[in-house]
Amino acid sequence: MNLKTKDVVIIGAGPAGMTAAVYANSGGLSVTLLESGMYGGQMTVSSVIDNYPGVGKVGGYELADMMFRRVEECGIEPVYDTARRIEATGGIFKVAGEAAEYFGRCIIIANGVKRREAGFEGERAYTGRGVSYCAVCDGSFYREADVCVIGGGNSALEEALYLSGICRTVYLVHRRESFRGEKKYVDAVKKRDNIVKLTSHRPIRVWGDGKVEGIELRDDAKDAPVKLNVKGVFVAVGLVPDNVGFAEAVTLTEDGYVLAGEDCKTTAPGIFVCGDSRRKTVRQITTAVGDGAVAASEAIRYLRG
Ligand code: NAP
Repeated sequence: MNLKTKDVVIIGAGPAGMTAAVYANSGGLSVTLLESGMYGGQMTVSSVIDNYPGVGKVGGYELADMMFRRVEECGIEPVYDTARRIEATGGIFKVAGEAAEYFGRCIIIANGVKRREAGFEGERAYTGRGVSYCAVCDGSFYREADVCVIGGGNSALEEALYLSGICRTVYLVHRRESFRGEKKYVDAVKKRDNIVKLTSHRPIRVWGDGKVEGIELRDDAKDAPVKLNVKGVFVAVGLVPDNVGFAEAVTLTEDGYVLAGEDCKTTAPGIFVCGDSRRKTVRQITTAVGDGAVAASEAIRYLRG
């Protein structure tokens, strides 16, 4: 066996992966924890989290830090690399990363989901030049400016609320007549004078000279174009899985999630999945953490035979 082989390679250090790391460590397993960006995953783009029991209202970064401190206490240092593929080689799994290869007697996939693109003209070209996918990360660049948020779910409503405390006007652009997000966020949005709700509007294109200067929308109710002079466009139109690279190792669902039940076992013995990248109905920090505990416990059972 390769000297670098660990009992388990965990792909992703969001709430699911960090919990799996803590449980695997408690069970006596050696761990490689891979993370492609910032530990904490999607929670780091939330300004306030109020549905994670035991910590009251807490910032996304703050909760990520609390979880990460426990990982560090276990003596686990994440390796910052992006996992691209999983291969089985003679009873051992190899994870091919962008920078190196990692070997494990079993694997826990905990890579979460990524932000969906809305698909308007100029979205990619202007990303980082006025188009953003994270109000908490980029909002401060738009102090006292006019911005727009695209989307109608919890994320878009949260981002609009956050930005309304920083920006002059926040146009909240949603393609349907009513929002999909929870009532508490919809009610809070209604109370903010500087959030202008543009329902039945779709984004068509952004324009600008190197940086966003405005966005063109389609008002579906009037079947007419609408132009807004805004400096920032925050896209919050949902999340998509990022599992294509693992498709040869495990079975994916039609929409790209890893196929596994509540026991977190994939179709490949020795490969487990937890958190948002698993097929499931409720994607929350709480459910990710629960999954992490289950996946690590099943990995321990698998290795002990
Ligand atoms: P979501 O609930 O899937 O909502 C996505 C929104 O974007 C929908 O309103 C959708 O419109 C719209 N949309 C999708 N594609 C679009 C496009 N191409 N152009 C324009 N609009 C488009 O996604 P989310 O808000 O990111 O939330 C994801 C998950 O995280 C949800 O389960 C959510 O509850 C959870 N979350 C929870 C919290 C919390 O509990 N505090 C906070 C944030 C997120 P349609 O309505 O027409 O489909």
